[in-house]
Amino acid sequence: MFTEMHSPLQQLPHTKHPKLWMKRDDLIDPYISGNKWRKLKYILKAARAAGKSHLVTYGGAYSNHLVATAAAAARSGLKSSAFVRGEEVNNEMLILCKLYGMNLIFTSREAYREPATCYNKLFANNPDTYAIPEGGASEEAVRGCAEIIDELPADTAHIICAAGTGTTAAGLLKGIVASGRQIQLHVVPVLKGGDFITTEIIRYEPFINQLSMHLDYHFGGYAKTKPELLQYMQQFIAKTGILIDPVYTAKMCFATEDLIKKGILPVNEKVIALHTGGLLGIMGMKDKFIF
Ligand SMILES: *Cc1c(COP(=O)(O)O)cnc(C)c1O
Repeated sequence: MFTEMHSPLQQLPHTKHPKLWMKRDDLIDPYISGNKWRKLKYILKAARAAGKSHLVTYGGAYSNHLVATAAAAARSGLKSSAFVRGEEVNNEMLILCKLYGMNLIFTSREAYREPATCYNKLFANNPDTYAIPEGGASEEAVRGCAEIIDELPADTAHIICAAGTGTTAAGLLKGIVASGRQIQLHVVPVLKGGDFITTEIIRYEPFINQLSMHLDYHFGGYAKTKPELLQYMQQFIAKTGILIDPVYTAKMCFATEDLIKKGILPVNEKVIALHTGGLLGIMGMKDKFIF
């Protein structure tokens, strides 16, 4: 299931920047998309090596990680369960999870704050279950994301990514430091107060000379948006033919554009924008769009 195929690189047309490319991790798989595929690669290997047959994870009702885990489990012949934050709902993402056979356990917001307690209530001493943290955040996930660096062209000077938990960014930085390459990592937190992500990254890779944090592109916070961002996103999609989403990749692309304008991403240096996937959620967002 986890092939060694590299995701494609595609040049982005830009009037000022002739060396702007996008790493299309969104094309790796439609349902185990982007960074979720990268994260799950070694998690599934570890689960299998431990002889486990049932993945148990956590997420919100619109979580890309839940769909990715459900799809990966089904394709690997494993069972899957998930603690879903909040009261019982139904939506496009959860329907996909159910089609893949995932058992959804709706969990109050209070109880959800204690993941280990949730797990132990249902699965303590269960020899078959393998717990995956929310969003897949783990050493295995970092290792999977680090492999992206090995796939970048030799003249890459900058890579830019969106961050929610920072696990993907941690993997990228770890990959950069391990390779000894002169690549600067630019991280765009999609939530307010994203500085905690630096702390998260340091847990996995303490050497942060090649890390630049850009905290001003959250557009009000996680899953929040503004007309300016939606308009930018619509124009980007129409111009490039590449779908991006308002929660993660549109904020990253908007930041890329602005950092080019400010000269932080110089026009003579190769820039790779990482498309981390996660496009399924757009289907449930019709109320957000103004057109
Ligand atoms: C989950 C997700 C992210 C966030 O990744 P982290 O490792 O949690 O920072 C970024 N982009 C997309 C499309 C995602 O689905």
